[in-house]
Amino acid sequence: MTERVAVVGSANVDLVVDVSRQPHGGETVLGGEVRRSPGGKGANQAVAAALAGGVETTFLGAFGPDDGADFLLASLTKAGVRTDLVSRVDSATGTAFIMVSPDGENSIVVAPGANSLLSLASAQLERIAAADVVLAQLEIPLEAVTAAAAARRSGARMVLNAAPSRPLPDLELDVLVVNEHEAADLAGTTGTPEELARILQQRAPAVVITLGAAGCVVAEQEIVHLPGFQVSSVDTTGAGDTFCGVLAAALAEGRPLREAAERAGAAAALAVTRPGAQSAVPTVAEVAEFAT
Ligand code: ATP
Repeated sequence: MTERVAVVGSANVDLVVDVSRQPHGGETVLGGEVRRSPGGKGANQAVAAALAGGVETTFLGAFGPDDGADFLLASLTKAGVRTDLVSRVDSATGTAFIMVSPDGENSIVVAPGANSLLSLASAQLERIAAADVVLAQLEIPLEAVTAAAAARRSGARMVLNAAPSRPLPDLELDVLVVNEHEAADLAGTTGTPEELARILQQRAPAVVITLGAAGCVVAEQEIVHLPGFQVSSVDTTGAGDTFCGVLAAALAEGRPLREAAERAGAAAALAVTRPGAQSAVPTVAEVAEFAT
C-alpha cells in the first residue's frame, strides 16, 4: 500500500489554564480548571492531512511511557492517522503549559520531553520511503528532519513547515511553508511577502508564506497571492497546522501547488471558526462544501 503522507514531528499534551493575569517572577496566582487538549505541530498536521485532507497518513513521532501518550494517540487514531510506528522513549511525553489571561495574552512553556529524543529507525525510514509526501516541522531534532528528507523516494516530495523559527540544516526541500515572521527570520531581512518568497526560493523551489486572514503567497515560477476566505474567527490556534496538513495531502493526491494551497486555505479558514487545534480540524466533506 502506498502511504500518501508521512508526518515526522512533535506531539504535545496542551495543558491550558485561565488566569486573571499573568504571574510575575516569584509570584503565585490561582487559575481556573485545567483543560487538556491534544497538540504539537506534527500531530496537529497529521490529523489535518487524514481528516481534512482525506489521505492515508502515518504519524512518526516519539512518546513517553505515560497516559499523555495514550491521550495523544487516541486523538490521532480517531482522525484516522496510522500510529503503528511511533517511537516509545524513556522521557515524559511532550507537554505545553499554557496560561491564558482575559486580555488574550498567552504565556507558554513547552517541555519537549520525548519529542527531543525522536530518532528515526529503519522501519520508520521505510515507511517514509513509501510516502508520496513527507511533511516535517522543527519541533523535533534537526537530525530527524534531515534523515526524513534523505529517506524519501525519488519523485516523492519533502514539505518543511519551518516552525518554530530556528536555523535550517542543509537539506533538500521541495516545498517550504512559513508564516510571515518565520519567513523574515529565515530570509534574514524584512520585505513584502513576495520579496521574502523570492529570497526563500534559494532554499526550496516552491515556497508558501501564510498571511493569516490575508491568505497566502505561493511562489514557484510565478508568485501569486491567494486571498484568505472570509470567516468570523473564533480561535486561530492550529490554523497554520491545518493549512500544512491539508497542503501535503492535496500534493499527495497530485494537485498542483496553487490548487493545494487554495484547499489548505479553505480548511484553515474553517478551523479558525472553531475552538481548539485538532478539535477544530474540518472533515474532507466540510472542506469540499465550503470551498465550492
Ligand atoms: P498559527 O500559529 O495560529 O497556527 P500561523 O501563524 O502558522 O498560525 P497563519 O498565517 O496565521 O499561520 O494562518 C495559516 C493559514 O490559515 C492562512 O494562510 C489562512 O489560509 C488561514 N487563516 C488564518 N487565520 C485566518 C482567518 N482569520 N480567516 C481566514 N483564514 C485564516
